[in-house]
Amino acid sequence: MRIILLGPPGAGKGTQAERLVKKYNLPHISTGDIFRAAIKAGTELGKQAKEYMDRGELVPDDLVVSIVKARLTEPDTAGGYLLDGFPRTKAQAEALDTSLQELNTPLTGVINIDVAQEELLERLTGRRVCRGCGATYHIKFNPSTVRSVCDKCGGELYQRDDDTIETVKQRLEVYHRQTEPLIAYYQQQGILHSVDGAQEIDEVFQEIVQFLDKFVNS
Ligand code: ADP
Ligand code: ADP
Ligand code: ZN
Repeated sequence: MRIILLGPPGAGKGTQAERLVKKYNLPHISTGDIFRAAIKAGTELGKQAKEYMDRGELVPDDLVVSIVKARLTEPDTAGGYLLDGFPRTKAQAEALDTSLQELNTPLTGVINIDVAQEELLERLTGRRVCRGCGATYHIKFNPSTVRSVCDKCGGELYQRDDDTIETVKQRLEVYHRQTEPLIAYYQQQGILHSVDGAQEIDEVFQEIVQFLDKFVNS
């Protein structure tokens, strides 16, 4: 299955993606992760992306689209994939549609994780990420057993540069302006499925699984 996880920053896309890709054995394609890896590796792409990310702005469409297009031609995506954090603009969604039409591989579904604004601020400022394996924690809602140490790999937990209150506010504004319209876009295509993201992590997961189980083997 070919799935998009849609939702504001902090909705729980990454958290759910971690679990979903294990359950359904799908490659996890997170544009945010791709950019952070490029920054860490010090590549030209990383340098370009960092400028925008640090300001809480979106990386330009042409750059993002070309990366995702290339990624979707890699052999491991033949059996499907989970897109996390892409598309984020109407232009990206249209470019993806065109690309998938050419490949004759339509999207299976778009899962919109719905969470109220007030909750997002607390989720993002309390988020911690593992340097080793990328696992996501929250200091209050999903803490690791030992502070600053990843339960899964023993790696060090850190706070993302863009999870400060100022940048978070900017990112939420950018979300409302540029990404939220995609809800209507996919609703019109008849492939949108919204879940209540304010529930516990496990409950959100169960709700998504219930929806996706209909598509296993497609
Ligand atoms: P996104 O990828 O959509 O930005 P994350 O998955 O990184 O979101 O989650 C943002 C923060 O909120 C993380 O610290 C995560 O542990 C926490 N979180 C995720 N889902 C929930 C939930 N259902 N309830 C409470 N906290 C959550
Ligand atoms: P979040 O947890 O807020 O959903 P991500 O890790 O998905 O964050 O993205 C972090 C940053 O990377 C974004 O604020 C943006 O600058 C950049 N980025 C990620 N995906 C995209 C995209 N599809 N289009 C443009 N910029 C993106
Ligand atoms: Zn780890």
